[in-house]
Amino acid sequence: MTMSTRPRIRNVGILAHVDAGKTTLTEAMLHVSGSIAEAGRGDKGTSHSDGLDVERRRGISVRASSLSFDWREVHFQLIDTPGHVDFSAEVERSLRVLDGAVLVISAVDGIQTQTETIWRALEARGLPVCIFLNKTDSVGADAAAVVAQLKAEFSPDLVWLNRAVGEGDGGVALIDLDDAEWAEVIEAVAATDEPLLDQWLAHDGDLEAEQWQPVLADAVADRRLFPVVCGAAKSGLGVEAVLDAIVRYLPDAPAAVDAPLSAVVFRLDHDAKLGRVAGVRLFAGKIRTRDRLDNVTAARQEQVTQIKRMRLGRYEDSPELGAGDIGFLCGLPEVRIGDILGDPSAVPGGYTLSAPLLSVQVTPDDAADFAPLAAALQQLSSEDPHLDFRWFQDERELHVRIMGTVQTEILTEILQTRFGLGAQFSAATVIYKETPATAGEGAESYTMPKPCWAIVRFELEPAPRGSGISYRSQVGKSDIDPKYQNEIANRIAHALEQGPKGWEVSDLSITLAEGCHHLLHSRPGDFKLATDMAILKGLVATETKLLEPMLAFRIRAPEQYIGKVTGDVVGMRGSFEPATIDSGQFTLTGRVPLATSMEYAIRLSSVTGGRGALFTSFDGYQDCLPEQGVERAYKGISPLDRAKYILWWRGAITDSFR
Ligand code: GDP
Ligand code: MG
Repeated sequence: MTMSTRPRIRNVGILAHVDAGKTTLTEAMLHVSGSIAEAGRGDKGTSHSDGLDVERRRGISVRASSLSFDWREVHFQLIDTPGHVDFSAEVERSLRVLDGAVLVISAVDGIQTQTETIWRALEARGLPVCIFLNKTDSVGADAAAVVAQLKAEFSPDLVWLNRAVGEGDGGVALIDLDDAEWAEVIEAVAATDEPLLDQWLAHDGDLEAEQWQPVLADAVADRRLFPVVCGAAKSGLGVEAVLDAIVRYLPDAPAAVDAPLSAVVFRLDHDAKLGRVAGVRLFAGKIRTRDRLDNVTAARQEQVTQIKRMRLGRYEDSPELGAGDIGFLCGLPEVRIGDILGDPSAVPGGYTLSAPLLSVQVTPDDAADFAPLAAALQQLSSEDPHLDFRWFQDERELHVRIMGTVQTEILTEILQTRFGLGAQFSAATVIYKETPATAGEGAESYTMPKPCWAIVRFELEPAPRGSGISYRSQVGKSDIDPKYQNEIANRIAHALEQGPKGWEVSDLSITLAEGCHHLLHSRPGDFKLATDMAILKGLVATETKLLEPMLAFRIRAPEQYIGKVTGDVVGMRGSFEPATIDSGQFTLTGRVPLATSMEYAIRLSSVTGGRGALFTSFDGYQDCLPEQGVERAYKGISPLDRAKYILWWRGAITDSFR
């Protein structure tokens, strides 16, 4: 493909709650576009998009997979993302590389927990959305009722592009809108654009497709209108209609191939032959084999050895990638997810859908597998940074962070199939944080035994919830040389990894108030050690309070359960707004601690005979009383154990830095 004849590109994400039919729709698109003879099936383990063995066997998607095909002269790059809430991190990463999304919703089940989370994320990213109402052939399908629900809860600005008739009894057929229905669509489109509205009025509501279609495309691009296509992916119904809607109404990828390179790494794969393969999205410029790329995130040059594109789950060689493309680079062994290559200005910001709030310990079935297990978890953590693998060597403990317990099942399988390792996961514990209870200070004079010299004094102050960590220095260059000041600034995050209660310390401001180096005795690393010791002493002086993760919730259930449910929320130490009631259903919104509500979806379902629904999203950390949380012993040698810490530090320097 030469740059002058580049086709128009659509980078489209297929998003949905699990089981709504993403994999089925993706396969049907491949089939309809002529890329495959027969659509594969997630539930039969034959899909082209579910690449991992565990995905094929379990019929669920874990990794976002990417597939490309052509339809009506447009090059589609589809991202089929996992729907289970435990894999939200994967969804979040893929949102960054999309220009638009197809949100698949089951016409039987309507809005479900994850649908809502995804909608909010698409909203936050400002992505255009086309809705695919799937399963209109199933018993119980009610497209009109689901659209009414979408209008009430997501956006009133939906426009139908087709209709399903005979839905719900297996004999569904799709038909074009009749004249009266088209008139409604055109009116909605005209209402978004004054010149078109004038024409519409002048022509008595009669407009040509060439007049209103581009206006609808603009309105979709700005999220002022959302097209809705009905279908039944399983029997291929509505698949052409949704492909055409994507071509007509979702935006083109920017095509500035002659601009400077601007790209982001959005996934890392491990291939048996190629090793580490970095998935990238280009927003501007191009990449050719052997190019040296500027990794601005890591402040390093990268050399591309091979370029691949993904077709039907297989890598194919490609000489180059251009603006708008999604492709895969080999030869970047140190690259990480989120790294920006080239000019960052064209790359959209990252968006956090959800962070893992649970921690689990992993133990090998066979004690002899400890080191290979650690290496495997290290590898998985570099592919999915949210796992945040920690190896506590003194305790011989391996910990990872997870979104939910389904993820541990998948990790167990991946460890088994890819690494041949049997492992057990402990019960999940909530990840707490801690924060200073009052203002205070911590100082350290690390001047003995020579050679060493680092004197520091920090002032610590509590800061508002959610504000994170801020650091500044009041010390002049002549007192502490800039190279040591950098050492201190870069060490703060490490020094706050474990507070006196064993958790990461957050929501505070730290000032380096005083200190000095020594021209002869100060050595590189001395100030790191002094920082660790001074900050932890400071936190002991201020004392710390535990913070626990909170969830914002919304519960919908039949009216008669309102008393029981509000009682449950109070019992979980939650708070709520006055409930609203609408056609026999109440809606209750509020906040609950994660620690007390982990099992609540199950209880709500049993209390309401399956007729209650719970929606939750992470809503920050909040103070909790000591008896409501959990404290942990310090992992490793504590900087408070001064003599031992210094010895360990010096030993470590001898071992690994010289
Ligand atoms: P995903 O979890 O969103 O990827 O969902 P899948 O594509 O794996 O589909 C989940 C289940 O719904 C499978 O058993 C499909 O066969 C079924 N399914 C998907 N599309 C349709 C449809 O249009 N009609 C009916 N009746 N079933 C469907
Ligand atoms: Mg799937």
